[in-house]
Amino acid sequence: MIKVEEALKIILDSVNVLSNEKVELRVSLDKVLAEDVYAGLDIPPFHNSAMDGYALIASDTEGASSTHPRRLRVIEDLKAGYVATRPLGSGEAIRIMTGAPFPPGADAVIMVEETKVEGEEHKDEFVEILREVKPGENVRQAGEDIRKGEIVIEKGKVIGPAEIGMLASLGMDKVEVIRLPKVAILATGDELIKVNEALVPGKIRSSNSYTLYGQVLCCGGIPVDLGIVRDVREEIRTKIESGPGCDMLLTSGGVSVGDYDLVKDILAELGTEMKFWKVAMKPGKPLAFGLIRGKPVFGLPGNPVSCMVIFEQFVRPAILKMSGRIRLNRPEVLAILKEDIKKKPGRKHFLRAWVELKDGWYWVKTTGPQGSGILRSMSLANGLMIIPEDAGEVKAGEKVRVQLLDHPEM
Ligand code: AMP
Ligand code: MG
Repeated sequence: MIKVEEALKIILDSVNVLSNEKVELRVSLDKVLAEDVYAGLDIPPFHNSAMDGYALIASDTEGASSTHPRRLRVIEDLKAGYVATRPLGSGEAIRIMTGAPFPPGADAVIMVEETKVEGEEHKDEFVEILREVKPGENVRQAGEDIRKGEIVIEKGKVIGPAEIGMLASLGMDKVEVIRLPKVAILATGDELIKVNEALVPGKIRSSNSYTLYGQVLCCGGIPVDLGIVRDVREEIRTKIESGPGCDMLLTSGGVSVGDYDLVKDILAELGTEMKFWKVAMKPGKPLAFGLIRGKPVFGLPGNPVSCMVIFEQFVRPAILKMSGRIRLNRPEVLAILKEDIKKKPGRKHFLRAWVELKDGWYWVKTTGPQGSGILRSMSLANGLMIIPEDAGEVKAGEKVRVQLLDHPEM
């Protein structure tokens, strides 16, 4: 039996970042950029107005105030998307909208709120400037966001909404990214039936097929459900052998020491290079990991919570690494325990927990019974409390590490 950290290291050392692919810009969201992106142009591409107002020559406004306004002739009305028809001269102004190209001759913009138009008959002909304006005011310089030739986004960056917007500004409709792993999911067990089948004595529905599907999707993988096989050597073997061209295989059930626990034997028969069978953790313990024709295969335990917690600790980081991510672990906080926890030294425990921030501290308590078949306490949890291997009883008031999970109410 190996320790959690050791198991994780073996797994991460065994999996590699996948190859690149070129995808349509929108499809690149949440994927990892596979090449440095250089700007082929300045963004913004031209000087433009940062305000709705009047473009003018700052020196024309010397000494202007609300009591002594300066009067300028309005020679043009410039909307975003159009260029001025002639340069601006002394004593003149151009009514300008945000984003419109800055007219030649002008050197500043005053906001419309700091101006006044004269009586009805002169409307749109003259404007009164109510304060002194400095050169450069309210002008967005060409290239102030991105300079032509500079690296805009570095290889390895996860593409989020801001990055996708920058790529759009640069006219990149295709992006080179690291492709996402296709993950095959196979449930094993004579007791398992499909979700839409009628329940008969002795059978249960294969919930793991669904939780695993969800977990794979949530960390960016592409799940491929291979369905259910019975605990029959040939059935399991055929299904694993005929597995579609996936990058990873997950099986659930059949890896502990029961008579019908065949998966690990079959994986070995198929030439899988097995790395380990058991990890010193709870829930969990049975976890087979190996490489089948160079691709990672995880034999996960059938118990629904063990299956989920093991996925969190080992499968998720592997999927993230294959997708090119740098950060593979969940964030952790130190929280004050709100109850006593009993535990025998030996294995590392992951307890389903609810953690919240109150008065500047994190506080944590378990979400109920911790049996490895009780999925409800997983559904109520926003974190996993981690109690180290050598710890015995932990008392209320002590500080414990809590791994934060995604939870819609956090
Ligand atoms: P096993 O790992 O095959 O010994 O199974 C351990 C426990 O998990 C048993 O109670 C199984 O019935 C249950 N189990 C196995 N596979 C699934 C599954 N796909 N969905 C829900 N429960 C399962
Ligand atoms: Mg079984």
